[in-house]
Amino acid sequence: MDCLFCKICEKEIPSKVVYEDDKILAFYDIDPKAPVHFLVIPKEHIAGASALNAENAGVVAYIYAKIAEITAKMGISSYRVVTNCGPDAGQTVFHLHFHVLAGGPLGEMA
Ligand code: AMP
Ligand code: ZN
Repeated sequence: MDCLFCKICEKEIPSKVVYEDDKILAFYDIDPKAPVHFLVIPKEHIAGASALNAENAGVVAYIYAKIAEITAKMGISSYRVVTNCGPDAGQTVFHLHFHVLAGGPLGEMA
């Protein structure tokens, strides 16, 4: 499949891995928007948040639990998790991903 994040999962494209297991991959964003900015993705290709359903949504809870673990290990207690869904919301890669932003005051957004 011609998907950038599937290729990152397959290691066809290199990334700076933060965490990996059989279900998910976390890696640093190539264009950070905060002092700490990494992405967490399911290894299964899901096009975005609007492609979630009762069968595939379990990985979302798993990802949030892992984000809590990863940030705790990094000594981060304050962070923001963002998912852009659809072009108007700024989604540019159509493989579900969660931005984790941290490392200082993030400003108001929502
Ligand atoms: P979004 O715009 O919400 O779809 O987020 C896509 C994110 O992927 C952006 O923040 C990009 O900076 C990031 N990105 C694009 N290509 C790469 C790459 N090769 N490695 C790491 N992050 C990437
Ligand atoms: Zn994909």
